[in-house]
Amino acid sequence: MPVCEKAYAKINLVLAVTARRTDGYHELQTIYQNLTLHDTLQLTSLAEDKIILTCDDPSLPVGPDNLVWRAAERLKRFFRISRGVHIKLQKRIPVAAGLAGGSSDAAAVLRGLVRLWHLPQDWEELIQLAAELGSDVPYCLFGGTALGTGRGEKITTLAPCPHFYVVLANPGFKVKTAEIYHSLTEADLEPGYDLTPMLRALACGDRNGIVANLSNTLEAAAFRLSPAIRTLKDKLAQKAPSLMCGSGPTVFALFTAQEEAEEAALSLRREGTAVWLTETISQPTAGGE
Ligand code: ATP
Repeated sequence: MPVCEKAYAKINLVLAVTARRTDGYHELQTIYQNLTLHDTLQLTSLAEDKIILTCDDPSLPVGPDNLVWRAAERLKRFFRISRGVHIKLQKRIPVAAGLAGGSSDAAAVLRGLVRLWHLPQDWEELIQLAAELGSDVPYCLFGGTALGTGRGEKITTLAPCPHFYVVLANPGFKVKTAEIYHSLTEADLEPGYDLTPMLRALACGDRNGIVANLSNTLEAAAFRLSPAIRTLKDKLAQKAPSLMCGSGPTVFALFTAQEEAEEAALSLRREGTAVWLTETISQPTAGGE
């Protein structure tokens, strides 16, 4: 029996880069939030010891360069599994867009293979495997609303964010996360960033407080490299409170009213911008089928 998993996109309501680390990573304080926009993965066990990945997006690699393949290989090695797996990946989340598509797919593979092969649900081990695959992967194992510290891999689950309609707008080019982090200057860093107002707003379900405290340190570097991202954000911000997603280049806007979100999405689409209308989701990891 194949196992299905949904891999949800995420935004960061806050992404504060507080310091550079000696290991090349950066120290973060971030608040992750899942969206209903998702990829779908179907996993079928194979008697033969091999990993076959098929994907409906021909631009993506289907070997070790795909995080899905790497997640399967890493988990097989860890649990010494000599069976194989065929993974069918249906992409919906735009690629290299700051929405953690690859990370979410990798986490879905870890969850899915644990179910497919009835492996022990040792979350500490799985979080460790996830962190080796990428800084966002531990969050994607659980999803929902969560605080990330360290390089983003140390996760504390938070009370669910109140519901928002979310308009995502993408300027039509890809951004390399490493390039954005590299071009951060000392002046861009926010060493004393105080998450308290956002955490308080989330704890109280205070929508006004949440939108007033949206913040992303990486915007400065991304806007310098690609002014088109700032132009798109400025346009979206005329409709609703907006922020760049992760390392960009997608920009999101939060709406409480569905009609306003639909109207904003429509007007951007008419101008030729790639737009997705989605929603926040509170408890997504019951995404398996
Ligand atoms: P993050 O927000 O975690 O930095 P992102 O959303 O900006 O990630 P991804 O969509 O994960 O970026 O893609 C980043 C790169 O990873 C792309 O260049 C892509 O080729 C590669 N990649 C590997 N596996 C996947 C996958 N399953 N889905 C999307 N991209 C993948």
